[in-house]
Amino acid sequence: MADPCIFCRILRGELPGQFAYEDDYLVAFRDIHPVAPTHVLVVPREHVESLAHASSAHRELLGRLLEAAAAVASREGLAARGYRVVINTGTDSGSEVAHLHLHVLGGRQLRAMG
Ligand code: AMP
Ligand code: ZN
Repeated sequence: MADPCIFCRILRGELPGQFAYEDDYLVAFRDIHPVAPTHVLVVPREHVESLAHASSAHRELLGRLLEAAAAVASREGLAARGYRVVINTGTDSGSEVAHLHLHVLGGRQLRAMG
């Protein structure tokens, strides 16, 4: 059966992705439905279902993901005006894809969260 995880399929090159950054641990690609002028997803190569499924074994990976989010924001020219990093987790967050990812959002004034 084909892997149902859309992000794993993008990581394997089975589905297209517009990559902004990649290294041995993670990739960053543009969200297909951007909600801000810059909307990049930072995604670990390892399939971790969500932040709630991460364990102490993922401590280094979690640090790398945040580090990459800041690096992507910087490369995209967001550092001076600021940006938002979001991790949706579970049903109430509205999360759609069950593969841990960070949204990096910027390029306009973002509304207050709620
Ligand atoms: P979340 O709601 O936090 O699970 O975010 C999932 C995100 O993945 C959404 O913002 C979608 O627009 C995005 N997305 C879904 N499919 C693709 C795809 N094939 N390529 C890029 N982004 C995608
Ligand atoms: Zn996956």
